[in-house]
Formats: sequence, structure tokens, C-alpha cells
Amino acid sequence: MHLYDAQKIQIYNTLSGQKETFKPIEDGYVGMYVCGPTVYSNVHLGNVRTFMSFDMVFRYLKHLGYKVRYVRNITDAGHLENDADVGEDKITKKARLEQIEPMEVVQRYTVDFHNILNTFNFLPPSIEPTATGHIIEQIELIKMIMDNGFAYEVNGSVYFDVHKFNETNDYGVLSKRKLEDLIHNTRALDGQSDKKNPQDFALWKRAEPQHIMRWPSPWSDGFPGWHLECTAMSTKYLGDNFDIHGGGMDLKFPHHECEIAQSEAAKGQTPVNYWMHANMLHLNGQRMSKSTGNTVNPSELLSGDNAFFSKAYAPSVIRFFNAQSSYRSVLDLTDDGLLASEKGFFRLMDAINLLEDLKPSSESSFQVAEWRQKCYDAMNDDFNSPILIAHLFEAAKHINQVKDGNASLTSEDLELLKKTMNAFTFDVLGLVNISKAETGTDKLSGAVELLIQLRQDARANKDFALSDKIRDELAAKGIQLNDGKDGTTFTTN
Ligand code: AMP
Ligand code: ZN
Repeated sequence: MHLYDAQKIQIYNTLSGQKETFKPIEDGYVGMYVCGPTVYSNVHLGNVRTFMSFDMVFRYLKHLGYKVRYVRNITDAGHLENDADVGEDKITKKARLEQIEPMEVVQRYTVDFHNILNTFNFLPPSIEPTATGHIIEQIELIKMIMDNGFAYEVNGSVYFDVHKFNETNDYGVLSKRKLEDLIHNTRALDGQSDKKNPQDFALWKRAEPQHIMRWPSPWSDGFPGWHLECTAMSTKYLGDNFDIHGGGMDLKFPHHECEIAQSEAAKGQTPVNYWMHANMLHLNGQRMSKSTGNTVNPSELLSGDNAFFSKAYAPSVIRFFNAQSSYRSVLDLTDDGLLASEKGFFRLMDAINLLEDLKPSSESSFQVAEWRQKCYDAMNDDFNSPILIAHLFEAAKHINQVKDGNASLTSEDLELLKKTMNAFTFDVLGLVNISKAETGTDKLSGAVELLIQLRQDARANKDFALSDKIRDELAAKGIQLNDGKDGTTFTTN
């Protein structure tokens, strides 16, 4: 008997627009693919949020006893600056600007990505394939799509024929778009394009002479279209029809729509049973995005060295903050939100630390078994982590009452409570039990807050020599004081 036999998960499936009972293709096994990063720059916290949400899904499925094959790719070629198949390859551009090899760009940012994920206590995926490692598979897919009449070659490039495909299939099935509307809303081709229709997308692009990343193919020396790599890698490792495909909301169209079209055109079947989309992280009310520069890098948030936040936050506090809202909701990253999460996180850790010292009684005043099932019910309801956390806080309240002698637990219930708290807090949510002192940031904050207070006293006493000395000496040690209308905060560098 596995836990998954007793716990039935409901997953919100973008394809049907509703929650569905999750039934894996093969009993006890789950195949899950998540679109990974394009490694041309440091990942920002928005990217981390999406991967963190799927790390939690992976963790919960594993906790239930499923054997999960989790594939998350690295996009190291083929992702152009523009979704309309024009512009430079993002990695090639970075290599040109920095005068290094594209593979040096890839190496640098893949290492950065892994370091960041390790800092946030991610579980590694089962397979992490790269686009450049699967060029042959991508060429084979193009051949299949061409043989089935859904793609055409022009001047060494190959395009997917969306109009032809839509005659027999439904282009727009995932994003709920209609081809007629797309036609209406897309600009006409400018005469320069090789495409028959603006809605068509590249499967293979002939490389211009200056394009460094290129591979031989039956059509030209060139490179694959971005959408193709995910179809090639997901189906290679998970089969032509697999359980779960995830990614950020912004990938729903055109990326995931095109993946469905490619698979149906090549293999005649839909690739994925459950499409999951994680919602966006916002900063200052706007989506965090590399292209607009509205970003905070994880290292800036962890060190406190940024223009937005009053202090440094520990990785587990950021994880906790993320889990306090549903993966399907937009989440606004704010200092107030992080401060509240930090308080909540340590309240939970304090309660867990107390568990070891609690003395059992002959009776329980807390229905632990019922409470445990409520925790599962929350996660079974489309991975509703904020509700799970509310239940963990309910248990924390009882733990404190037991410690104060106002409530009781039998030894059996105490064991079950410990086991369940640890399982959900550490295995499923992926938090790490750190103390306030261990974070380091708190000791520093405490000391600097004291100096800020002394500086304020000095100013109130008109002792400006002392107040300036405090500010300047802190600045010399890399701690900047910032006077704002709500008081003084500090940043470190
Ligand atoms: P990219 O490297 O741009 O392909 O993005 C990697 C992943 O991060 C994709 O799944 C995106 O959907 C996701 N992503 C990008 N921006 C955000 C954001 N602001 N919030 C959450 N996820 C994001
Ligand atoms: Zn993808």
C-alpha cells in the first residue's frame, strides 16, 4: 500500500480549464517535464519561483510514493530574441557581446543556475538534457512532420504549416485561441520572410554566415527552432504521451501550443495529459522580466544588496514566502510580505523545535489523524500550499499549548504529529530548519539597528559629528544607511 493509493490528487489542467483527478498513465509512475532556463544570463527570482513551484510538485509526488521521472531541460541553443522567428539567438548574442564562445556563456549560466537552485534546496531533476545534445532527435522529428505534410522548406529553413495543421487538428487547443483571431491580430509578412503565413513557426533555420551555433542538416547548415527541442527531449525520455508538462504561464502560447502541434503532426497523438502553468512573480506591480530589467537576482535578495528590500532574507524564508500563495496566483514580491513570511517561518521552526521536548499524556486534546488528513487534502487540491501552511500553523498553536500545559497529546499522537510536521515542512515544502542566529543576517541587523538608534539619538541631541561618524564608518564597512520617510533602513554590499 502506497500513500498515493489513499490520496487522490486534483490537478488544474490548462487543457480542460478545470481541476481533474490525477491518474498516471502507468500506475505508480509519473513522467513530468518542465521547460528549463535559457542560459544566457543569471536567473532572476521570477524564474526561480516557477522552478520552485514544480520542485514542490515533484517533492509531493515523491512523498506519496510515486516513482517520478522528472525531466527539466537546459535551453542552450535555438531561443531567438523574438517569438516571430526573427532576431539573434539569445546565447549567440551574449557570446558576441562578451567576445567569448557560446558554450562559455552556456557553461557560466548553467553553473549559476545550479548554484542558485542548490542554495534554495531544490531536488535535482532525474534528467537535465540540453538542446544542443539532441540535434539529431530534432532533425528526425522535422523529417516526420514533413513526411506527414505539416511542414515545408524554403531557402534551407523549415516551417511548420499552422494553417494546414488546423484543417485536421486544433491549433489553439491549449491557449484557447482561434486561428481566425490570430490571423486577424498578426501583422502581415513584410515580404522578407520565407514563411507562407505569419502564424507558421520555424522548425529549422538556415544559419547566416556569421551565426556561430550551426549544425548540418538535410536542408542547410543551421539550427533548430526553440519549440522543437522540448518536444524532442520530453518525448525521448518520457514517451510520446506522458503525464505532466509544466512551465511558466508565459510559455503557454506560443511555446506549449507549438509543442502540442509538433507532437500531433509528427506522431498523431497529443503529448501530454496534464498541462500545468505557474503564475508570475511581480516586482513593483509588474512582471519580473529579464527583458524589461524589472528584476531582482536571488543573490541580491540573499545578501540584502539591492534597491528594493530593507534587509537580507534566508533562502528558506523566500521558499516559505512562495509557498504561502498558490502556484497559480500572481505573487508580488514586497518587503512587507517577506518580513511577514520571515516571522511566520520562524514561528513554525520554533514549534517544530519544541516537539522534541514535549511530554506525552494519557489523552489527546488535538485530533492529530484528522489534522494530518487535512494537510493531505490541501496538497491534493492542486498543491494548495497556502492552505497546508495554515494547517501547519494550527498544529504549531497546539504544540505551544501543550508546552504551556494547556493541551495534551498521547505518545502515539505526538509521534504522528512529529512525523507529519517534518514530512510536510521539510520533505514537501523543502524548507530547512535554520535558527534566527544561524542566518547571520539577524545578528547583523540587530547590531545595525542599534547603531541607527544611536545615530537618531545623536541627531536629536544635535551631535552631528557623532551621527555623521556612525553613518560614514558604517559606509566604509560596506553598510549604507538610507533615510526614508518611514525611517532609516540599511543595505550591505
Ligand atoms: P526563460 O529562461 O526566460 O525561458 O524562463 C525560464 C522559466 O521562468 C520559464 O518557465 C518562464 O515562464 C519562467 N518565468 C519567467 N519570468 C517569470 C516571472 N516573472 N515569474 C515566474 N516565472 C517566470
Ligand atoms: Zn519548453
